[in-house]
Amino acid sequence: MDWTRGHTIGHGSSAAVSVAKSRWSDDVFAVKSVELSQSQFLQKEQKILSQLWSPYIVTYKGYDVTKENDKFMFNLMMEYMSDGTLTDEIQKQGGRIKEQLIGYYTKQILQGLEYIHSKGIAHCDIKGRNILLGKTGAKLADFGCAKWIDPAERDGGAEPIGGTPMYMAPEVARGEEQGCPADIWALGCTIIEMAAGGSPWTNVTNPASLLYRIAFSGQSPEIPKLLSLQAKDFLSKCLRRDSRERWTVKELFKHPFLEESNLNTMANQDFVTSSPTSILDQDIWSSVEESETMDCSIQRVSSIGSPLQRVRELGLNSGELNWRWDDEQRWITVRRRND
Ligand code: ATP
Repeated sequence: MDWTRGHTIGHGSSAAVSVAKSRWSDDVFAVKSVELSQSQFLQKEQKILSQLWSPYIVTYKGYDVTKENDKFMFNLMMEYMSDGTLTDEIQKQGGRIKEQLIGYYTKQILQGLEYIHSKGIAHCDIKGRNILLGKTGAKLADFGCAKWIDPAERDGGAEPIGGTPMYMAPEVARGEEQGCPADIWALGCTIIEMAAGGSPWTNVTNPASLLYRIAFSGQSPEIPKLLSLQAKDFLSKCLRRDSRERWTVKELFKHPFLEESNLNTMANQDFVTSSPTSILDQDIWSSVEESETMDCSIQRVSSIGSPLQRVRELGLNSGELNWRWDDEQRWITVRRRND
C-alpha cells in the first residue's frame, strides 16, 4: 500500500502511532511504527492481529517496511480509532464514567476477550489505554503482549510474560502463568479505572512493592464504594485472587450487571460525533494531539524469573534507572523473555 504519514497520535512504551492516508484512495488509517532492528514485538503483534477479525478488535490493515530519514521502519497498519483511548474518555468525563456506560464498555471488552480467547489467544495487557473508542464503541487494541495459550501454537518455545504491573493478576506477578484468567483480572482493574478514575491500587510507592503486594499480600484492589451492588458483585468475580475461581468470559456474560435492560439506553447513544475514515475529514490532520510518551529504553532487556524479579533486576524499586514511573497514572510495561 502506498501511503503518507500524518501527525503522531500516540506513543506507547515501544512504538509511535501516526495517522496515515492512502495515496490512491481516501482511506485514513493508523500506523504503528518502530525501527526495523527493534521491531520484534511489533512483528509479533502483526502476526497475531493479522489472524483476528471481530467488531470488538481494532481491524488489521496490513504491514510494510519503509525507509525514513535513513532508517528502516517496520509499520503495522490498522483501523484509525477516532475517539482515543478509554483512559482519555474517563479523563474527558471528569475522572469517572457512569455505571451504565461502564456496563456498556465492559460488555464490548468482554466480547473482544471472548473472541480472542476462543482463538486461543490471551491479550495480556488489558487496561484503559489499550481500549480504543470509535463510532461503534470500544475495541481491544495493542496486541504487543498477546500470546498463544496453547504451547503447541508457539513457534519459539517459551512466551514472554508481559503487561502493566498495575493491572497484573497475582499469578502473573508471581511469574507462574499468564492466560485468559489474567485478562479477566485486568478487566476488573479497568472497571475500577472507569469507576474511580484512578489506579486499581492506591498508596503505591514503586513498581517492586506493587508487584510484591499483588503477588503475595492476599489483597485484591478495593472495589469502588459508589458502584451498585450488582456492579460490585461483578467486579468481585473478576478480582478473585485464585485464577481457578475467577469467572470466565462466558460466566460473566450471564451476570445481571450485563443484562440488556441495564444497557439498552447506551446502545442507542451516539458515541462519536465525528469519526473520520477518509481524508475528506481533514480535521484529523490538524486536530490530533500527541499523547504522552513513555520511556522504553530498557524494555527489551532479557531476564529470567517473575516480573517482580525483573523489576528488581532493573533497579526500579529505587528509581536508579530511567524507567518512567508515571506519577499520575502509575503504570509501566514490563516485558520479559524466557529465552
Ligand atoms: P504500550 O505502552 O501499552 O505497550 P504501545 O507502544 O504498544 O503501547 P499502543 O498502545 O498500541 O502502543 O499505542 C499507543 C497509543 O497510540 C495509544 O494509547 C493510542 O493513543 C494511540 N493509538 C494506537 N492505535 C491507534 C489506532 N488504531 N487509532 C487511533 N489511535 C491509536
